[in-house]
Amino acid sequence: MGFSDFHGNSETVHRLRDMLARKRFPHAVILSGARGSGKYTLALMLAQALNCLAPTETDGLPDFCSQCANCRRIALAADLDAKFAEAVESREGMRETDKKETRLFVQTHPDVLVIPPDPPQMMIKVDQVRRVIETIYYLPSEARERVYIFTDSAFMKEAANSLLKVLEEPPEFATIFLLSENAGELLPTIRSRSMIFALTALPVEEVDRYLAEQRPEWKPPQRALVARLCEGALGRARSFDLDAYVAARADALAILNSALSGGEHTQLFKITESYRAGAEGRVKTEHLLRTLYSLLRDLMFIGSRAPHLVHNTDIQNQLTKLADTADFEWIARASDRLADVERGMRRNLLRSLSLDALGLALEKIA
Ligand SMILES: [Zn+2]
Repeated sequence: MGFSDFHGNSETVHRLRDMLARKRFPHAVILSGARGSGKYTLALMLAQALNCLAPTETDGLPDFCSQCANCRRIALAADLDAKFAEAVESREGMRETDKKETRLFVQTHPDVLVIPPDPPQMMIKVDQVRRVIETIYYLPSEARERVYIFTDSAFMKEAANSLLKVLEEPPEFATIFLLSENAGELLPTIRSRSMIFALTALPVEEVDRYLAEQRPEWKPPQRALVARLCEGALGRARSFDLDAYVAARADALAILNSALSGGEHTQLFKITESYRAGAEGRVKTEHLLRTLYSLLRDLMFIGSRAPHLVHNTDIQNQLTKLADTADFEWIARASDRLADVERGMRRNLLRSLSLDALGLALEKIA
């Protein structure tokens, strides 16, 4: 492992490594980019480079060895979802009083602290920032540089104000990373005290090449599909659940087909019946709705003679046929109906019923 394992955004990575080389690495770095764009991966790599005990050089710039004690312990935090789930679980097991006072952190190295948003609100809370303030002014014990990684930019107000105080007077030996899907969410005063680096979407071809290495079992049309659906975010491509997507899409297509052709409803009801209450049903329904949106968007692209923008390339012929019967007005109304179902889900309406209603409503306007 080293910086060469970070795919894409090579100019940004180069600039960051160049600042490492000149010993001018900023105290506060905002890494902005879509979900799955590599913000966390890059922050951990930089944390390793800042603290590697046997630093190396590649392409004339600082790199990390990935073998020394510091590199290895920092890398243990790489699976953020798993570490986050562990932290949540261990808090769940506590007594009520302790639970209230326990904030979530991921820590695999004494000087590197990962601060995820705290459920259920999924925001960074003031007690989490307090932990940063309590530790940041002490010299690191086993690293050269204390590193703090906030994995989300949704801060409670008081938390943001506390962070601002740290950023006004950061110690020489600490670096704070703020990861954000939308840097505009952060206080302007926080942004102005940080350096902002944007991780942009990778071209479809690059994602496709990456998938050819990582998912050799996928056929070229499957790779092309995922490369388009993940919108240039490798993290999303890597963890993409193709089977779940294809299953949801088959249902979505059947609902659209049934609505556009009219008549027989047996098939429609059979499908909607399989979307049940409970957490699992909720996830399944969310997949279905997202897939319906994606198909409607593709139909729109085909209708407006922009087939190169279609995401679901592997079923393009099928979609082209469907597009013949779906005009813009229908697509627009169908999108509105979908939004109704989403609102209904938030109010916990019975899913299968609102999906039935969706299918029938789409038909009436066909
Ligand atoms: Zn190392």
